[in-house]
Amino acid sequence: MSSLDYRGILTGEGGTTTLIDPTTAAELTTLPRASIEETDRAIERAHAAFPAWRAVSPGDRARLLRRFASVVDEHLVELAELEVRNSGHTIGNATWEAGNVRDVLNYYSAAPERMFGRQIPVAGGVDITFLEPLGVVGIIVPWNFPMPIAGWGFGPALAAGNTVVLKPAEVTPLTAIRLAELALEAGLPEGVFTVVPGKGSVVGERFVTHPLVRKVCFTGSTDVGKGVMRGAADQVKAVTLELGGKSANIIFEDADLEVAAAAAPGAVFDNAGQDCCARSRILVQRSVYERFLGLLEPAVKGFRVRQPSDPDAEMGPLITAGQLASVAAYVEGTDIAFTGSVPVGSELQQGFWYPPTVVIPASASDRIWREEVFGPVVAVLPFDDEAEAIWMANDSDFGLSGSLFTSDVGRALRVARGVEAGNLSVNSHSSVRYWTPFGGYKQSGLGRELGPDAPAAFSEVKNVFIAT
Ligand code: NAD
Repeated sequence: MSSLDYRGILTGEGGTTTLIDPTTAAELTTLPRASIEETDRAIERAHAAFPAWRAVSPGDRARLLRRFASVVDEHLVELAELEVRNSGHTIGNATWEAGNVRDVLNYYSAAPERMFGRQIPVAGGVDITFLEPLGVVGIIVPWNFPMPIAGWGFGPALAAGNTVVLKPAEVTPLTAIRLAELALEAGLPEGVFTVVPGKGSVVGERFVTHPLVRKVCFTGSTDVGKGVMRGAADQVKAVTLELGGKSANIIFEDADLEVAAAAAPGAVFDNAGQDCCARSRILVQRSVYERFLGLLEPAVKGFRVRQPSDPDAEMGPLITAGQLASVAAYVEGTDIAFTGSVPVGSELQQGFWYPPTVVIPASASDRIWREEVFGPVVAVLPFDDEAEAIWMANDSDFGLSGSLFTSDVGRALRVARGVEAGNLSVNSHSSVRYWTPFGGYKQSGLGRELGPDAPAAFSEVKNVFIAT
């Protein structure tokens, strides 16, 4: 791991982080962390690289991003295996995640040639608008999806002509660091995309306070996100916030219950429930409540919690001992309906395993119904009619995503429009596609990522009037 001292940015001035394999709790490696001074140097380098990068012709910038995508593609297996070790993601998920970075780069490689302005009719001249890059963009990434969330930021930001400094989560920096190396291999100039591993309170806060960072794109917990927004206010700095969630999965009596029950475990236990979009509240119409729970039980018990390197694994361990303790504390004292299992084996004894768990809260005011557990735990409550389902779904500080199962098209549209969340799916749990917008209502966030408009979110609109 000596490559971590890459390009002389890190000297270890900021201390070190010891990474742990979540599957076995074995030590993986120790990495240097950036200090404030090293973070400043990375930001200054990114600032120095900006004029040349914004001047790269649109076609050449597009070609460089396509080449970056190809190099990522050539290293898909390596990146996926790195994520399995560092984050305990199943190999199936990790392979998808590396592929998602490639796809996002390919998608936004079409943007440089399409950063259109407008020509607006005016008297006495010509009025045109330009989309101008912002400068240095700071991207702060959480530990739950280290590769995709990094790519959702740096793909469109680079395409729009910005340079990027990116801080991975302290416990999961390996794939981001590798991606920065692959960017150089693909021919992106030095300083255009720099990964700065380190602490949130050092590197992350510096992105917020450093005047040369013109936008902060933060994904993480709602509490830290509020602090980022407060800090950004000092310089009226732009922010995108992708925060927590407590999304509802609403099952109506006219739904195909077999399909809904078979799909529910994957919608909350994928990535061991460490997913901002996890459908961690299941709302079931009272008339089919018992039947639905009867169908859900075998689906949960059959959910394949395995060693993450097993190609059949649907779920692996949690990320850290701390996360395991936090999830267990949420469940303590709650009525557990049924659970799945965790794999056994002497080398797994110390790993951070928690079984898929279904709980029945005493009421909708229970902590487990209201707070983001960020683990493989789902709470189930009944509702009586459509109005109550919408009311219960919206009775939350969050509003990131949600699902509803019904065979009535009118109801599907009414409820999808009625639920206050950025991403809804009907008779499925699909949530994030790189070519459709993604983001939250209420305390789940501010702004949207992905989709056709993401490069505009990394641009200023400039209006120019030319007198004729
Ligand atoms: P976190 O808020 O603890 O950390 C997120 C990132 O912020 C990390 O890189 C961390 O080092 C950094 N950070 C910490 N303190 C900081 C500070 N004071 N200033 C600047 N940066 C700081 O979150 P986490 O535990 O890594 O991730 C889990 C959370 O992320 C969950 O709440 C989850 O819902 C959320 N999340 C949201 C989305 C979304 O798109 N809405 C996606 C994934 C995760």
